[in-house]
Amino acid sequence: ENIWTLPYLTLANHFKFEGDILTVNPTGNGHINDTLLVTTDAGKKYILQRLNQSIFKEPKNIMENIENVLSHLKAKLEGMPNVDLERELLTLVYTDSGDCYYIDKTGDFWRSYLYIDHTISYDIVPNTEVYRSCAKKFGEFQKLLSDFDASILHEAIPNFHNTPVRFETFLKTLEADPVGRAASVKEEIDFLLARKEDMHALTDKLEAGILPLRVTHNDTKINNVLVDADSKEALCVIDLDTIMPGLAAYDFGDCIRSGATSGAEDEPDLTKVNFVTELFESFAEGFIGAVGQNFDEEEIMSLLMGAKLMTLECGMRFLTDHLDGDNYFKIHRENHNLDRARTQFKLVQDMENQWDELTAIIKKFIVK
Ligand code: ATP
Ligand code: MG
Ligand code: MG
Repeated sequence: ENIWTLPYLTLANHFKFEGDILTVNPTGNGHINDTLLVTTDAGKKYILQRLNQSIFKEPKNIMENIENVLSHLKAKLEGMPNVDLERELLTLVYTDSGDCYYIDKTGDFWRSYLYIDHTISYDIVPNTEVYRSCAKKFGEFQKLLSDFDASILHEAIPNFHNTPVRFETFLKTLEADPVGRAASVKEEIDFLLARKEDMHALTDKLEAGILPLRVTHNDTKINNVLVDADSKEALCVIDLDTIMPGLAAYDFGDCIRSGATSGAEDEPDLTKVNFVTELFESFAEGFIGAVGQNFDEEEIMSLLMGAKLMTLECGMRFLTDHLDGDNYFKIHRENHNLDRARTQFKLVQDMENQWDELTAIIKKFIVK
């Protein structure tokens, strides 16, 4: 018996699960939603998730995005040989009333997926093979959705990767300097101000029609890819809450930002934080190989800028929160957000120092 079973049994029973529910237990390492594993006496397993409504203000829109994208992916994958649909794609479980979510008495918002068994997800990149395999999955995700009209999707979190807007917010916070920290972080502030022109490098190209609007995942950490426990091959992209219209460079960039590094995101000792070129290369190989000729050269070359800008943007958000008095990201020690900002700026600096080499790596994988 566990504490989750009784209160959640009634709730879980609204979903069309096969068999009677045996257990309901917390599972996974997610930071945003509450994730439970349901088992039944028919030997079935399901994921039951409570959406974090303080982040996702319009949960019905999130579910509409997810349903649309999953049905497109399903139609595509069904036509391909050797695809195990229920392992390679999330499958929503519906409620008795035919909805893909259930709102309980307290207003909490729940949804369910088939549990994909015998998988692992990595919080830290273990080696180049796994990273390349995850990159391939994110690339395939882009490729399979390249004929999906991204403009019909809801913006799950408005202006999520709108770097110029994030820069404006930074400037406003800097000017207000609400907790008087600006003077103590002049070096970091100058780092951002010196890169003012970079901030709009990608959005300008989107507006000019040079880069296409695509379906983007927007949370491309490798722990959002389930990997087969035996073969260690990436199987399935999960965590689709932040699917939105955006640029492919955002998804590529965020996975490089979070994965191609030798140090933790909040490592205070910057000598331990280095950009890892071999990881970058494996990821680029997997991703660009998978998108193939669905991307033109301009878009493939934008991926490197994506890596730099996603890292710069993330560091800027940490620094903004530090200047603002730590209201957004949870902190566990003094100057935690400042440490986080510094690791990101270190990675940006490393990328800039090797820009020509990184450009050559990307070029190498372009399929002509
Ligand atoms: P994040 O902090 O990455 O935003 P989250 O709170 O949004 O995470 P998910 O990533 O959707 O939650 O799920 C949390 C974890 O639960 C996953 O990392 C994975 O380990 C596990 N998980 C989620 N869905 C499934 C599934 N369908 N099959 C197996 N495991 C799953
Ligand atoms: Mg996740
Ligand atoms: Mg998530």
